[in-house]
Amino acid sequence: MNHDEWVQQIDLELDGELSLPERAALARHLAGCRHCAEARVSHLELRVAFARSAGEPHARTVPRPRIRGRTLALWMTASLVAGAAAGWLGHSRWGGPGSDSVEATRATFLAH
Ligand SMILES: [Zn+2]
Repeated sequence: MNHDEWVQQIDLELDGELSLPERAALARHLAGCRHCAEARVSHLELRVAFARSAGEPHARTVPRPRIRGRTLALWMTASLVAGAAAGWLGHSRWGGPGSDSVEATRATFLAH
């Protein structure tokens, strides 16, 4: 394994997704590799920062949506789509082209 793969293992370990033998192998590598040990420290500090910003400075793990940029982008897209749909519904219900004809129908009814 190269260092990039070990850094990926570090992420998995911090997510609690490594088996004991995998954690042991990682710990063995970290004991002799300053590069990866530093990477683990900065990954941990990043998670601390995320936990603090989430108002849970003593959390044991960080929920995935807060640390996965792709998931965050997905949520933002979803909320934009939801907002657009709500706007479209509101438009057609209260201000859309349909309301004029309803008023006209009512006026015609009253006139009769
Ligand atoms: Zn390494």
